[in-house]
Amino acid sequence: MTHCILQLALDTPLNSCFDYRWPCAPQERPQVGQLALVNFANRDMMGLIVAVKDDTDVPLDKLKDALAVRSQLAPLSPRWLALAAFAADYYQRPLGEVALPGLPKNLRAAGTVALDRALKKMAKLEQTHDGAPVDMPALNAAQQIAADAIGGAQGFTPLLLYGVTGSGKTEVYLQACAQVLAREQDAQILILVPEINLTPQLEGNIRTRFPGVMLATLHSSLSEGERGLHWIAAHQGRARIVLGTRLAILASLPNLKLIVIDEEHDPSYKQQEGLRYSARDLAVWRARQLAIPIVLGSATPSLESWHHAQSGRYRLLELRERAVRDAVLPTVRLIDMERDRGKDGLSAALVAALKLRLERGEQSLLFLNRRGYAPVISCDACGWISNCTRCTSFMVLHKPEHRLRCHHCSLELRIPRHCPTCGNVDLQPLGRGTQRVEEGLQLLFPQARILRIDADSTRLKGSAQAAFDTVHRGEVDILIGTQMVAKGHDFKKLTLVGILNPDTALFSQDYRASERLFAQLMQVAGRAGRAARNEGGNASEVLVQSRYVSHPLYAAVMHHDYDRFAGSLLAERKQAMLPPFMYQALLRAEAPLLANAIAFLEAARDCMEHEGITINDPIPMTMTRVYNVDRAQLLLESPSRPALQAFLKVWLAALRDMKSRVKWSLEVDPLDI
Ligand code: ADP
Ligand code: ZN
Ligand code: ZN
Repeated sequence: MTHCILQLALDTPLNSCFDYRWPCAPQERPQVGQLALVNFANRDMMGLIVAVKDDTDVPLDKLKDALAVRSQLAPLSPRWLALAAFAADYYQRPLGEVALPGLPKNLRAAGTVALDRALKKMAKLEQTHDGAPVDMPALNAAQQIAADAIGGAQGFTPLLLYGVTGSGKTEVYLQACAQVLAREQDAQILILVPEINLTPQLEGNIRTRFPGVMLATLHSSLSEGERGLHWIAAHQGRARIVLGTRLAILASLPNLKLIVIDEEHDPSYKQQEGLRYSARDLAVWRARQLAIPIVLGSATPSLESWHHAQSGRYRLLELRERAVRDAVLPTVRLIDMERDRGKDGLSAALVAALKLRLERGEQSLLFLNRRGYAPVISCDACGWISNCTRCTSFMVLHKPEHRLRCHHCSLELRIPRHCPTCGNVDLQPLGRGTQRVEEGLQLLFPQARILRIDADSTRLKGSAQAAFDTVHRGEVDILIGTQMVAKGHDFKKLTLVGILNPDTALFSQDYRASERLFAQLMQVAGRAGRAARNEGGNASEVLVQSRYVSHPLYAAVMHHDYDRFAGSLLAERKQAMLPPFMYQALLRAEAPLLANAIAFLEAARDCMEHEGITINDPIPMTMTRVYNVDRAQLLLESPSRPALQAFLKVWLAALRDMKSRVKWSLEVDPLDI
């Protein structure tokens, strides 16, 4: 028996590949892209074969034998391997960490029983999708142009579908998909959405629209087993539509012909830990690699994508009007809270508007991006406030749960009966969260059916969906919620949106805060008036309660003027040399003592020449302490992406050699700085 050498990527923090011996006849050699089970550091783990060789620099008697090769499954394609290699290289992470975690566990685990069982289940998945095809609704002219542009595009074609809320972007995607599926026998389409639970309507639409076509879904709320099945369906080319969240960008799709990124501006496309990749950016790379079209859709495109559209790199498709006949964009009114202070955080104008909707039997939505009852409690007598003992943050009052909770480290305490410092029994809640607004509404409108939707009210699996269903069935008069209610939903009876206290983001240090706030307000405002006007012919309304009604951001919201607002933000960014005119990377360090984190970052800054790269001074992060650990960061900037990439590679090797005890991590293209 002869043998060959398998070079494997393993999911370890070490930035290299590992050689193993595999006894086999020359004609039975494993292939690159297959998976092999090996023992590494006394643990059995799965590795990805990246090369099959005759020999190696390591002495043969030092090499271990691989334990098994998974040959039941076709190898991952060279193109897929190139995608994983690119992501690893660009985000400066080990290849194994990119390539392996996305693979279904039953492929990675020891033993082949699970895999064989999974493959058998595939047949069942296929049989569940029969049904009568549903007619496609007639598109309006703008939609038709967009659908044809996407469906008919050849070669690498990035398209930005800029469509106001309710303009029927989903319909455009579906009809473009239909064109591609009809034209190419075994074409596959990848559709990414920010959060699958918030877009359940889309999955239903796809199923009824394409009854004979297998749909696979890939997101983190599927069980391991289900996700494994769907992954295999995609890998084998049987699933022709794959709908998923950001992690689906690394799915194996041998016949991928079109990528759709819905709500492309959404921050959840960026992974916030470990491999901090942007699924949107990887998607564009993948489309170029495969020479296929990709459509990025949004009512408020990210400034990066908008910039590309303005400069002609992306083709711009516009939907300026709402798709449903007679549905118009809502009228936006700014309520000056300096003048109309109201009660319980609700201005007189908003209360009157709510009353009117109740009388008409229409629905209202109140948006407040702060959960809990009050963000902090305090003692008037001595000035004590409910700080978290482990973080630079407050303990939030959760009244229904009778708890104080830190939203950063999950510390929970009973609500103190008296002030821990001076004994005063009269502790006051300061500020207002969704629970408190709900309480105020119940007093104001005892007859109304009020529902709160936020992370606290939807802890149980499936409860968010159940809550949204009651809204769709019309069993709710007033809905109050956090950003969970802002996205995607098509509430047909909703004619009033109230936005409470959006001001804090106006003065944030984060230069992206206003871009984000604007997108969020346009999104939530866009929930109103999606169906035709009511019988009285009244347009729907959005009321924004603010203390800064003359702020230009609100003027832009009032006029639904994304173009001009985006234009002015881009001009500011250009002047200040910020992204997308600058490329950034962020080195973060954490240690029990802030001084140690800062000292490490200073050493990192000074450890080598960095011509063409600006390295700023280390600073503590805004939220410095979380769970007893202090955090600091170092920002690197360069107008040249290749220059930054080249520098990072060498620099990271030097940082690893420092062998510091401080925990550190690097993020390329950070969103939060
Ligand atoms: P967006 O994603 O752009 O916010 P949606 O795709 O949710 O908008 O569409 C908004 C509403 O318009 C939906 O109820 C959808 O069924 C409807 N719609 C879309 N296109 C058409 C059309 N061509 N004719 C009639 N109604 C349409
Ligand atoms: Zn006190
Ligand atoms: Zn805490």
